[in-house]
Amino acid sequence: MGATIHGVLERNARKFPEKDAFITASNRLTYEDMNKTCNRLARFLQDGGVRRGDRIAVMSLNNEHFFYAFFACMKIGAIPMPMNIRLTPKELGAIFQNANAAGVLHETELAETVTALKENCSLNHYFSIQESVEASANFSGGNLNVPIDSRDVCEILFTSGTTGTPKGVVFNHERILAIAAAVSVNFSLSHKDSMLTLMPLSHSAPLNTFFMSGFYCGASHVIGDFTPKGFLNWIQQEKTTFSFAAPVAYLLAAKDPDLASYDLSSMSVFAYGGGPLALASYHHVKKAFQNENFYQVYGLTEAGPNGILLYPEEHLEKAGSIGKNPTVNMEIRVVRPDGSDTAPNEYGEILLTGDSLMLGYDNNPDETNAAIQDGWLYTGDIAYRDEDGYFYIVDRKKDVIISGGVNIYPREVEEVLAKHDAVLESCVVGVPHEEWGETVKAVVVLKGAVSEEKLRAFAAEQLAEFKCPRIYSFVDELPRNASGKILKQQVKLVHA
Ligand code: AMP
Repeated sequence: MGATIHGVLERNARKFPEKDAFITASNRLTYEDMNKTCNRLARFLQDGGVRRGDRIAVMSLNNEHFFYAFFACMKIGAIPMPMNIRLTPKELGAIFQNANAAGVLHETELAETVTALKENCSLNHYFSIQESVEASANFSGGNLNVPIDSRDVCEILFTSGTTGTPKGVVFNHERILAIAAAVSVNFSLSHKDSMLTLMPLSHSAPLNTFFMSGFYCGASHVIGDFTPKGFLNWIQQEKTTFSFAAPVAYLLAAKDPDLASYDLSSMSVFAYGGGPLALASYHHVKKAFQNENFYQVYGLTEAGPNGILLYPEEHLEKAGSIGKNPTVNMEIRVVRPDGSDTAPNEYGEILLTGDSLMLGYDNNPDETNAAIQDGWLYTGDIAYRDEDGYFYIVDRKKDVIISGGVNIYPREVEEVLAKHDAVLESCVVGVPHEEWGETVKAVVVLKGAVSEEKLRAFAAEQLAEFKCPRIYSFVDELPRNASGKILKQQVKLVHA
């Protein structure tokens, strides 16, 4: 037996019954409301034939319906699989087939996608979350007490699919609780906190790391979709204390013309991850929000994500680093291809280990064995450690540009371009070249005026000649996935 995620909900319902715990655009629910609704829905699902171990895809917008489905499944030992609802029915169908999904619990508004889905795969159950909640009104709202072990699988998440086909990442209750405990310690969270979650809940970072850590402590949660104004409004209206977002979200909110009229003083932590905030951007958001407490988190779905933190003061002292100290219960190394530890300033692959690692990839022992060796997760991120022990990511393993036999790390070039006042962001890719194999191209989004010649000269001042982009392309925006990460492969295809 042991502790479970839904057990935390039941504890919170007892401990903080009256507190507004789930605040969305259309609803305010206490922990007690949430727990009762989930208990009723769980009984309704049981009654409808959902069994322990059944894998149930959750297709919800970012609102309370997500949690109804998520916790109700867990309470009967079914396994929720949060889905990125921006995928096409065909892509979803392929995932369901591979994951052997038994059914889907979906937001009513997504009925059209579900109809199209039925042409791609046949599942046993199709439930609308809202209709099921209504239909479950007469079931008991008391806890179910189905015996669930803390080592039972509790969720399967799908990696964002920035590279290759999505893989199911499997966690059990024990691992998710370990992540929640570690992150709540890292950020000194308590039941007094109010967490702002405007990133898609189907992604591991908003769900496992940031929602779960506040939930673990009995904090309140504001849940919704990100817009710059929405972000500022929620902070002011609900006096939220903690937010997690992709760097670009903070940059966009900082550009809002009405920013100065908002009171953001309740915020104690602005966490971000999935990518860096260049030093100039860090200064910009710090000034815009009149708050220094920006924390960078590095991790990946397969590790929770949990990994290493860059603290506010370290942004200045060690600009460009992902930090020195791993988060609670995690360890980090950088290794050579033969598995030995690198020397300071030598490039290698980041390995992570600790309580937050996935159990493995779903139904894929080969990929699991390649990813986790001797208990260490091979992240595919290339980094070095400086003399003071700070880690710096230089690139992803598969994202190296090889030009004339020389390795060029796009991340390094992007960082240099980001230092220019007129550059908002860039994506540097390798494009085919007859002689050199590949050549370096920079796809740039500007925030001010600069000529191509001036930008070339700027890059040439700071980069070795062989690393300088040969081709520039200026665009209005870069394509991103649901969690805000730049879709490099797409940029590559379009700009090849
Ligand atoms: P995901 O599994 O979708 O969360 O993607 C994880 C990947 O995002 C990592 O392997 C890194 O390549 C990248 N990433 C995550 N956090 C950071 C960060 N703070 N800085 C740079 N890259 C990051």
